[in-house]
Amino acid sequence: MLVTQAINAMGGVLRSHVQDDQQIRNFVIDSRQSRKGSCFVAFKGEKTDGNRYAEAVLQSGACMVIVTDEDVYEQIEGNKVLVADALYALKDLGAYNLGRYKGRKIALTGSVGKTTTKELISEVLRTRKRVYTAYGNFNNELGVAICAANMKMGTSYSVFEMGTNSAGEIEALSKYIKPDICVVTGIGHAHIGRFEGIEGLAKEKLSIVSGMQKRGVLYIADSCRRFVTSEVLEKTDVRYFGTDMASHIILGDVNRTVDGDFYFTAVTRNTPYCFKLNHFYSHFVNNSLPAIAIGMAAGLSYTDVMKGIRKFQPKDGRGRIKEVDGIKVIDDTYNAGFESVISAMTNLAGIPVEKKTAFIGEMGEIEGYEEMLYFKLMKKASELTNVEFVFVGKNFARFERTGNIKVVQTREEAMQLISKVSCGTVLFKASRGQKFEELIRHLEEEK
Ligand code: ATP
Ligand code: MG
Repeated sequence: MLVTQAINAMGGVLRSHVQDDQQIRNFVIDSRQSRKGSCFVAFKGEKTDGNRYAEAVLQSGACMVIVTDEDVYEQIEGNKVLVADALYALKDLGAYNLGRYKGRKIALTGSVGKTTTKELISEVLRTRKRVYTAYGNFNNELGVAICAANMKMGTSYSVFEMGTNSAGEIEALSKYIKPDICVVTGIGHAHIGRFEGIEGLAKEKLSIVSGMQKRGVLYIADSCRRFVTSEVLEKTDVRYFGTDMASHIILGDVNRTVDGDFYFTAVTRNTPYCFKLNHFYSHFVNNSLPAIAIGMAAGLSYTDVMKGIRKFQPKDGRGRIKEVDGIKVIDDTYNAGFESVISAMTNLAGIPVEKKTAFIGEMGEIEGYEEMLYFKLMKKASELTNVEFVFVGKNFARFERTGNIKVVQTREEAMQLISKVSCGTVLFKASRGQKFEELIRHLEEEK
C-alpha cells in the first residue's frame, strides 16, 4: 500500500501531509516494532500515549505516522496523518485490503484451539499455496484490523482468528472480514460466564457465518451439531469433523508412538488417510481435522497435507516443548480453559515417560462456574496417579487431595518445589495472568 493509498482509504482524516509517496512495509501499533518503511499508528492507551513516540519512530525510518494528537501532528516532519480515531483508521486500512483481496479468506472461532488450528491450516496450505496468517493471538476488533491492514495481497489464502468477550463481537468481525470459509473448533466453557450459558455461547460462535457473502463452507466440530440451526444450514455448506460416523471428516485410529507423539487416521469419503503429528497433545489431532479437510478441498495432495501436519509445532505458550538441562519442559502458559487443562493433564499422564510433573495454575474466564470446574480438575488429577501435580492458587485449596497432589498458594512457593525437579517431563499450564512463564524462567536459571 502506498502512503497516498492509505490516506485515501481512511475516513476521519482531519489533516494529512505527504512528503514522499512511499510503499508502506507494514502497519504497527507498538513503536518498538517499527522498522524502516513501517507505518506507525499511535494509540492512546491507559498506560502510554503512542503519540509521544511518533517523532522518534519517523526518525528511525518509519515511512508514515498516523496520530490523534494535533500538537504532535504539527511538530513532526514527514509523511503524517491526523485522525479522529486510531481504531477506525486502522479498520479502514484493513477494509481497504479486504476489499481488493483476490484470495480466499478463512475465519476461525471456537472456545478453544483457534490459534492452534489456524497454524495447522496455514502449515497445510503453505505446502503448495501462498498464505497470509494473522499473527499471534490477534483476534479482537483491534487485532483483526491490524492483521487485515497487514494482509499480503499476492496470497491465495488468508487465515484470521476471531475471539469474543461479549455477544455480537463475532458477528461484527465476520461482517468485517467477509470470510469464504469458516471454522468453529468447538464450544466449551471458555468465557461461559459472559454469555447466557452454553446456548448463548454457541449462538455467538456460529454468528461467524453472518458475514459470508455467498454460500461458503463451515467446518464445525461434530460435537456442536445440536447448535447448528436451519438458518446456518441455509447460509452455508456445513461440514462436520470429529468422531461421528456421519461426519465429513472422521477421526479413525489414534495411536501413540514410542516417543509419545501420534499416528492417526482421518477418514473422508470412505477413504482412510494416515498422518503423523509431532506432539503428544491429542487435542492437536482433533485440531488437525479441519486443516486436513481444508487442505484437501483446496486441491492439495494427501502427501502435501501430511507434510503440513507433520511440520506443525505449537507457538510459545501453547504447548511448545523445550529441553532444559535434560528436563523436557512444556510451555503451556498462555491459556488455561477448562477443556485444555483436562486435556493437557490427561495427555501428560499418557506419555511413556517415567517421571512426570505438572504445575497447574488457576483457570481464566470461568466466572460463575469456578466451584464445579475446579472440583472436576482436582478429581481428574486424583485419577492420574502417575503424574505429580502441583496446583498453584487459592482456588484449589478447598478440595480434598490424593497423594500425587500438592497445593500451594503462590508462585513463590511453587518455585521452591521447582528447584527439586531434576528429570522427566514437566508441564506448566495456567492462564496468562498467572505468569507461569516466570516459573519456567526460574527452572532455567536453577539449571
Ligand atoms: P485464545 O482464546 O487464548 O485465543 P485459542 O482458542 O486460540 O485460545 P489455542 O491458543 O490454540 O486456543 O490453545 C489454547 C490452549 O488450549 C493450549 O494450551 C492448547 O494446547 C489447548 N487446546 C487447543 N486445542 C484444544 C482442544 N481441541 N481441546 C482442548 N485443548 C485444546
Ligand atoms: Mg488464540
